[in-house]
Amino acid sequence: MNCCELCGRTEVETTVHHLLPKEMGGTFGVTANLCIPCHKQIHALYTNQEIATRLTTVKELREDEKLSKFIKWIRKQPASKIMKIKKSNERKRRK
Ligand SMILES: [Zn+2]
Ligand SMILES: [Zn+2]
Repeated sequence: MNCCELCGRTEVETTVHHLLPKEMGGTFGVTANLCIPCHKQIHALYTNQEIATRLTTVKELREDEKLSKFIKWIRKQPASKIMKIKKSNERKRRK
């Protein structure tokens, strides 16, 4: 378990995000550890072109209007949300 550099939640599973997309020459560039929802959101909101032009640091990502709204929301979400869903399914099966 790790800490997400974008939303700051701890004990989350993180993935490696290339601050300069690999497609734009960032294969060996700077990376950030992001939780899965944050990472997915970045790539859903922006194209690699946009990321490469203006969102190449965690600070720039955090300060972007669209992403900052998402961060405010995700911060309130428990890191163990997925695990809780699994548990409730187990309970149903036992009945
Ligand atoms: Zn995150
Ligand atoms: Zn990425």
